[in-house]
Amino acid sequence: MYKTDVVIIGGGPCGLAAAVGASKAGAKCLILERDERLGGILTQCIHNGFGLHLFNEELTGPEYAERWKARIAGDKNISVLNNAFCYSIEREKDGFLVSAFSGDGLVEVFARSVVLALGCREKPAGAINLCGSRPAGIFSAGCAQKLINIEGKKVGDKVVILGSGDIGLIMARRLVCEGSQVLGVYEIMPQSGGLARNITQCLKDFNIPLYLSTTITRVVGDKRVTGVYVAPVNEKLQPITELEKFIPCDTLLLSVGLIPEIEIAGDLGLEFNPVTNSYTVDEYYQTSLAGLFCAGNVLHVNDLVDNVSAEGERAGECAGIYARSGLDMANRIEITHDEHIKYTAPKYIYNTHTGTAKISFRVDKNYKQSIIRAVSSGVEISKRPAPAVTAGEMQTLIIDKSKIANDLHLELLVI
Ligand SMILES: Cc1cc2nc3c(=O)[nH]c(=O)nc-3n(C[C@H](O)[C@H](O)[C@H](O)COP(=O)(O)OP(=O)(O)OC[C@H]3O[C@@H](n4cnc5c(N)ncnc54)[C@H](O)[C@@H]3O)c2cc1C
Repeated sequence: MYKTDVVIIGGGPCGLAAAVGASKAGAKCLILERDERLGGILTQCIHNGFGLHLFNEELTGPEYAERWKARIAGDKNISVLNNAFCYSIEREKDGFLVSAFSGDGLVEVFARSVVLALGCREKPAGAINLCGSRPAGIFSAGCAQKLINIEGKKVGDKVVILGSGDIGLIMARRLVCEGSQVLGVYEIMPQSGGLARNITQCLKDFNIPLYLSTTITRVVGDKRVTGVYVAPVNEKLQPITELEKFIPCDTLLLSVGLIPEIEIAGDLGLEFNPVTNSYTVDEYYQTSLAGLFCAGNVLHVNDLVDNVSAEGERAGECAGIYARSGLDMANRIEITHDEHIKYTAPKYIYNTHTGTAKISFRVDKNYKQSIIRAVSSGVEISKRPAPAVTAGEMQTLIIDKSKIANDLHLELLVI
């Protein structure tokens, strides 16, 4: 059995940054990654747009991952085990026992603390209400991305995309660049779930139509997809079947949401947030179980990798401090919010009266003009104007902790 201070499960951008953070805290850590290489989803994201905030450059996914791999290379505190699929975490007296299947057989690691950095998986066709047959030619957007970018395959000629999250938008452009015809992106909601820059750069610049408040009602095809039926939806998101029309195509790409990979900690009784489909965390990115940390896409789906790295580094550093000397967990306050804000990460903050805390959150829909503010005991303690807030983009607010009294409430004031 291996022993270390911190085990990091997942070697994507979150896990890599967590290792840097843990080492900064003087802790020894081990990254367990199921893939044969580090980098997570970035390895298949060959488009640019990564690292704008952190490096002030537009890097591709693999370039961004290389920057972080270079940061852990040669660090004596950091070890990596690839081809290691973690399948269980057990609570022990003074830490955790993490078990994984690896190329060399079963691996068991005891650690004082654990960082969950497992990312997300895509919602498959079976997870949505999609009627009709199940011929070949239906792909999740990330699967199609891997087939095209890593394996050099073409997925189809005439493509329809369901869902306008970032992966769907990026893939619409990618397919056109690879010689496919993208007939349209269909989105059931009245607004896109993707970044505004991706709507412009991936759809508008390539003349790909985006149909909002519209969904796919049926898939048609025997061996291969031959077409789909689409229909606009009413305010209850029910298809208006009289307006249904047939679109001939040979490929359907699904970009209908991501599911955090939380199952590994499912037996530990952690506090759960149904909005994010993941666990709640405090400002150290620690779950309701002391010593178990969670950050990146497994905590909540992030639009920018820079935020993922920042979260991962903080989670890793706190996990390292927890393992070596313990964290100050006195005076915990729950962060509350109004109805425009869907959730906050973290959900809990410690009233230490010093330093700052960064709160990330998402809003329920798009707003043209608004103000985001934090209130403590009826007094405004932080505020910023928020022009053009969209449901798809992560928002943040920095709080000066010396101004917190007994509570903390976040509000979005619509102007
Ligand atoms: C198509 C697409 C386009 C994007 N475009 C941009 C962009 O232009 N700009 C930008 O800033 N961001 C972009 N993003 C977002 C960014 O890539 C993600 O937010 C980021 O990769 C999430 O990092 P992560 O480490 O949390 O998860 P991941 O990158 O998913 O890494 C998780 C890692 O955990 C490993 N793992 C999972 N389960 C186990 C297990 N049981 N045992 C061991 N290892 C395990 C996985 O193999 C993986 O390596 C894009 C994302 C996608 C999918």
